[in-house]
Amino acid sequence: MSGNGRRAAWETLGTQTFDVLVVGGGIVGTGIARDLALRGVRVALVEQHDLASGTSSRPTRLVHGGLRYLEIYDFGLVREDLREREILLRVAPHLVFPLPFLLPQYGRSGLYRAKLRAGMQLYDLLSFDKSLPSRRWLSRDEVLEAEPAINADGLQGAWRYFDAQVPLVERLVVENALDAAAHGAVVLNHARMERFLRDESGVVTGAIVRDSMGSAMGGQQAEVRAALTVNASGPWLDMNDREIRPGTPPLLRLTKGVHLVTPSATRNAHVLFAQSDGRLFFVVPWLGHSLVGTTDTDYRGDPAQAAADEEDVRYLTSEARRAFPEAPFDRVHYAYAGVRALARVEGVKEGQVSRKHKVLDHLLKDGVAGIVSVVGGKITAYRGIAEEVGDLVARRLGVEAKSETERRVFPGGELGGSEGLASYVKTELLPRAKALGLDGEQAEHLGRTYGALAHEVLALIERDRTLGERLLPDGPAVAAEVVWAVEREWAATLADFLLRRSCIGLRADQALGGLERIAEVMGRVRGWDAARCEEEVARYREEIAPMRRFSTAESGLGTE
Ligand SMILES: Cc1cc2nc3c(=O)[nH]c(=O)nc-3n(C[C@H](O)[C@H](O)[C@H](O)COP(=O)(O)OP(=O)(O)OC[C@H]3O[C@@H](n4cnc5c(N)ncnc54)[C@H](O)[C@@H]3O)c2cc1C
Repeated sequence: MSGNGRRAAWETLGTQTFDVLVVGGGIVGTGIARDLALRGVRVALVEQHDLASGTSSRPTRLVHGGLRYLEIYDFGLVREDLREREILLRVAPHLVFPLPFLLPQYGRSGLYRAKLRAGMQLYDLLSFDKSLPSRRWLSRDEVLEAEPAINADGLQGAWRYFDAQVPLVERLVVENALDAAAHGAVVLNHARMERFLRDESGVVTGAIVRDSMGSAMGGQQAEVRAALTVNASGPWLDMNDREIRPGTPPLLRLTKGVHLVTPSATRNAHVLFAQSDGRLFFVVPWLGHSLVGTTDTDYRGDPAQAAADEEDVRYLTSEARRAFPEAPFDRVHYAYAGVRALARVEGVKEGQVSRKHKVLDHLLKDGVAGIVSVVGGKITAYRGIAEEVGDLVARRLGVEAKSETERRVFPGGELGGSEGLASYVKTELLPRAKALGLDGEQAEHLGRTYGALAHEVLALIERDRTLGERLLPDGPAVAAEVVWAVEREWAATLADFLLRRSCIGLRADQALGGLERIAEVMGRVRGWDAARCEEEVARYREEIAPMRRFSTAESGLGTE
């Protein structure tokens, strides 16, 4: 959204009364905004930093029931999530893809293997309505053929089963916001909820929202009035709820999870058990790299400050190397850390805490009307959570419309009957891209990032051919993406564009080779002077510095 668009959004926020104010622009908040907007509810959503800048951009990026949760007897959660997996594969076919996993077995007793077989059967049973292939046992030789890099010592074979991956969760968040806005929602990022507004009887009537971009927007502030406020602020929930529930114990248990992004090291996705402590972790192919994670350790403090430390990196590197002795896990492009917001349970280990969400009506819990909070919840479950909140809000507001999100395909998912994204890129996007002087890699990049919305990006190039210019000498992204991100997708800073719109900041080099140039292109759209462009580059470097602390490129240990 351009500067003018932001100004208009501030104006609307401060002058209109909404049915619902959503606080938090992660997957849960934007999902709720979309669910409600599609029902015709008048929604405002505010995000203190950027859409998807919180936990939603730091996961393993799986859409899965979670085999692991069978171990803690969370059958209901697994079933629900497997159902959601099917829905997301259908409504977001450009962002959610089937992913085969190998679960290798080493020196296990007959009893253990029988238990695991039962677990795999149960996982299949709980996904009885699935479109994905069923599990299959692979012999030792078959595993070695499928994954030559795997540790062969004591290998008995592996289960092969399917789950799904959402490589760019950031885009799923943005598309939820886009569709919400297309149905009337007012969405504003870099707008922080400072405190809730209360009437004389204590009912929450909205919130004071302040611009969090510093001086750039002149310290805008608005009193946003709404019949109901939904607190979807993820791991920040307890910080934001304090005045609603003074003196009561926190609702959340926060745990930190770290992932390493390394050079591509395996052909397949793997579910592995750490030798040092028996914990389950993943090695997953991701954007041409490998993603290794995760850890799970109690966390205190501001979730925005969570970062990988030496112990996290040592643990993941050494476990991955045990599993794939020759693979390049000694090289790290970067690492990212996220904070899980789990419904609080004490006295059990981090990994034993249920991942099930709760929707809290503060009227019933604390006697405070006008506000609802969402506690916990996985990405996989977000659509169902949004529907649950939507139903509650609809009951409160007397809205009869039902949720539409189970069937309604995302704007970028309208692949015109093509059999999947690859065929869509080949038959629909490529010819149009080629006519504009772009190559196959660029058509692929646009399709994988924006799905069918790539046509809108190409339309910008049709109007102004200079927008077909590459942003990076060795990458497929084009200048038109900057225009699209600023004008249509609320990208207000260089980091917003790189990390959470085009996602080219997730490359191995995090686009460090082209920052000045990209800032200049963005500056032309946003009206920045040279000093502001420099400031944006510096801020981006600052934002990714914690991710690059263990980069072997940075330390000169590896050749990236
Ligand atoms: C290491 C790790 C791995 C994971 N892997 C998976 C996985 O593979 N699959 C899966 O399904 N789930 C996974 N999850 C869980 C999943 O990432 C989270 O449950 C999900 O992203 C939570 O989304 P959210 O919208 O609730 O929170 P967030 O994404 O954190 O969004 C909350 C937003 O609220 C904003 N906010 C906070 N306070 C304010 C305020 N005062 N005013 C305005 N805005 C505010 C924040 O800036 C933030 O953007 C993983 C989590 C972690 C940590």
